[in-house]
Amino acid sequence: MRLTIVGCAGSYPGPDSAASSYLVEAEHEGRTWRILLDMGNGSLGQLQRYMDPRGIDAVALSHLHPDHCIDLVSLVVLAKYHPDGPYESITVIAPGGAEEYLAHAGGPGGEPPLDALNFTVWEDEPVQQVGPFTLRVVEVKHPVRAYAIRVEAGGSVLVYSGDTGPTPELDELAAGADVFLCEASFVESATNPPDLHLTGAEAGRCAATAEVGQLLITHIPAWTDADEVESDLKAAYDGPYAVVRPGDTFDF
Ligand SMILES: [Zn+2]
Ligand SMILES: [Zn+2]
Repeated sequence: MRLTIVGCAGSYPGPDSAASSYLVEAEHEGRTWRILLDMGNGSLGQLQRYMDPRGIDAVALSHLHPDHCIDLVSLVVLAKYHPDGPYESITVIAPGGAEEYLAHAGGPGGEPPLDALNFTVWEDEPVQQVGPFTLRVVEVKHPVRAYAIRVEAGGSVLVYSGDTGPTPELDELAAGADVFLCEASFVESATNPPDLHLTGAEAGRCAATAEVGQLLITHIPAWTDADEVESDLKAAYDGPYAVVRPGDTFDF
């Protein structure tokens, strides 16, 4: 599996990064399969640095906050009106309500129609197969319905936290992952609201409990001191880790 960081800014796009979007690739039956985990603000532009969006096999959404899904509206414009002709329908695996939400985001009358996208819903099928990828979700702690996503292909395992406060469901989903891509939006010094986001220390404790191979920290908002998040992490975790940046790739 190859993971490419398309966008990793938390909560809104920052000066150096689009909001959350992660490209995951694996070889299968003679070609490269490509899925996107989330598609936050600004990510469609950055994605074109790494691939032709025509080649997306599926987009899997953790939840329906704009910093994780809103560029699907722009993908619809690209897919419907590309001068070379419309794209084939793109599979979107999302929390229930995604189709209605994104249709309204596309225009005041629910325009343009989202017929370029083919929705399936996590609540109906919490385990999904896309080519070589098996995707499995658990619900995590966030103000809207939100999922962490486990991706397995060819014996490799990636777990993505989405947005969440601390929860044993995430510890269990991440168990034994080769790569654990985990949000850390908060610093320990602040008074943080519950069930919203993790601190670096909380991400580190989750990674230690789950005994992951490598922890990748993401979703640090531009208004947060990334160095403080990293010091919080180092105080709680002594395993291998990186704080990701756009364009980083990881093979495992
Ligand atoms: Zn977010
Ligand atoms: Zn969120």
